[in-house]
Amino acid sequence: GLRCGIVGLPNVGKSTLFNAISNAKAESANYPFCTIEPNVGVITVPDERLQILEELVHPERVLPTVIEFVDIAGLVKGASKGEGLGNKFLANIREVDAIIHVVRCFEDPNIVHVAGKVDPVSDKEIIDTELQLKDLESVDKKILKVIRSAKSGDAKAKKELASLEKYKAHLEAGLNARSLDVTEDDLEAVEDLKLLTAKPVIYAANVDEDSVNTGNEFSKALEENVKNENAQVVLISASIEAQIAELTDPEEKEMFLAEYGLKESGLSKLIKASYSLLNLITYFTAGVKEVRAWTVGKGWKAPAAAGVIHSDFEKGFIRAEVIKLKDYQEYKTEAKIKEAGKMAVEGKDYVVQDGDIMHFRFNV
Ligand code: GDP
Repeated sequence: GLRCGIVGLPNVGKSTLFNAISNAKAESANYPFCTIEPNVGVITVPDERLQILEELVHPERVLPTVIEFVDIAGLVKGASKGEGLGNKFLANIREVDAIIHVVRCFEDPNIVHVAGKVDPVSDKEIIDTELQLKDLESVDKKILKVIRSAKSGDAKAKKELASLEKYKAHLEAGLNARSLDVTEDDLEAVEDLKLLTAKPVIYAANVDEDSVNTGNEFSKALEENVKNENAQVVLISASIEAQIAELTDPEEKEMFLAEYGLKESGLSKLIKASYSLLNLITYFTAGVKEVRAWTVGKGWKAPAAAGVIHSDFEKGFIRAEVIKLKDYQEYKTEAKIKEAGKMAVEGKDYVVQDGDIMHFRFNV
């Protein structure tokens, strides 16, 4: 599934939000993986198409897709140089698909701010700088690796070097890799580096309870500051999330949200923002044992999509059989779907569509 890393300065509300997420996971007893690290919270993504398939297929179990939230604590000024919990935590960020950057937008005299005052823009920039320095380190390392071949005329290395220099200049100017204008070649040159500041980001503006609908002066300053980034700002109140997480009855939850004039929880807003920011779609596998949702990127081809189930599916990919949900609803069984000629057989270039029901054939 999708992995989101939660970052932010100390005392901005990360743990409060993370604990709320971890409590929410109690609802998803079906979650199939058993070893979850203490700093990883897992929640399920609701999808009404799963219910449709369940009624058609009557499987033993239904597994929604999940999002993992990784609490990446210990980011402080100087983290890239090993301050705080530093490097270990930066390594954790490399493995995430997106970053949720929690920014303190609430005032509370009882809660110390590491920089002395609430200033979301400057807070955000402190974290950005640490991540940029780390990226710069990765880019510099790779430049050292390719520079000799580039100088001796190797065409590929020359191209790579040009791309790497472009990233270097951008990062040195105090900018995030995600805001660089890039070509396919540039992307290829840094693909293996998994640059931290190239990852898509959602800013979670942690506002006081009363500002969760309207925002406040702090969240507005943040929005203004990031409006040229390809990023989203989501208003949340970590303390409201913590209270929602305590409620088990869905009706109670709804009433609680209504009291604050909210239609959905901050958590649900974060999930939606992640899917849209990351261009994610869902495909399904449907069998008598299990109906299951899988998350892939828009534009992914069948083998890569198969790879999220198991890497062997990708390596040994032969073909995919694809059914559209509306055909499943019309013809009800796989046999009838086949008879009607509505099961497509697709090769390795097939681009998976949102809602596809896939069956993969592969060599082991
Ligand atoms: P972290 O260091 O970023 O993980 O921050 P924590 O989640 O531990 O929060 C630090 C302190 O701020 C705790 O005492 C929280 O109860 C408090 N806190 C978190 N979110 C809010 C909020 O939205 N409003 C207020 N007033 N306090 C909050």
